[in-house]
Amino acid sequence: MIKPDAVGNGHTGKIIDQIISNGFRIVAMKYTCLSEETAGRFYDVHRTRPFFKDLVDFMSSGPIVAAVLEKNNAVEDFRKLIGATDPKKAEPGTIRNLFAKSIEANAVHGSDSDENAAIEANFFFNQFERF
Ligand code: ATP
Ligand code: MG
Repeated sequence: MIKPDAVGNGHTGKIIDQIISNGFRIVAMKYTCLSEETAGRFYDVHRTRPFFKDLVDFMSSGPIVAAVLEKNNAVEDFRKLIGATDPKKAEPGTIRNLFAKSIEANAVHGSDSDENAAIEANFFFNQFERF
């Protein structure tokens, strides 16, 4: 997902370009908005964390781009491409190093396992099936 900060700052095209040039195939994509309720469900695992309310406010503050990406070793390679959660700790050249402003407004989301990638694909795309 490209988060509201990066979409709002006009970085969508540059981020998609990096994703494609690093060997990911886009198999589904949409430009949409999350409501507070939807953002809360997406980040349900963080519901008890102190930053949850701010995270939900931020994620529902403007448009996002959701995509399903395909590649060998996609989860690990995508997390390498986006860099650490906190952009101050993200390696030079990573998407968060280049485009993120803070640990919360950190430009992109990446799934953390194949299992969660499948759940998140279905969250955004009804009855998503690989093609
Ligand atoms: P994401 O799941 O968005 O790809 P991540 O896996 O790197 O990010 P998580 O620990 O899953 O990091 O946190 C989810 C999101 O919650 C982060 O991307 C960030 O937007 C926000 N977040 C995480 N930790 C903090 C924090 N300490 N303060 C504020 N926001 C935070
Ligand atoms: Mg995460």
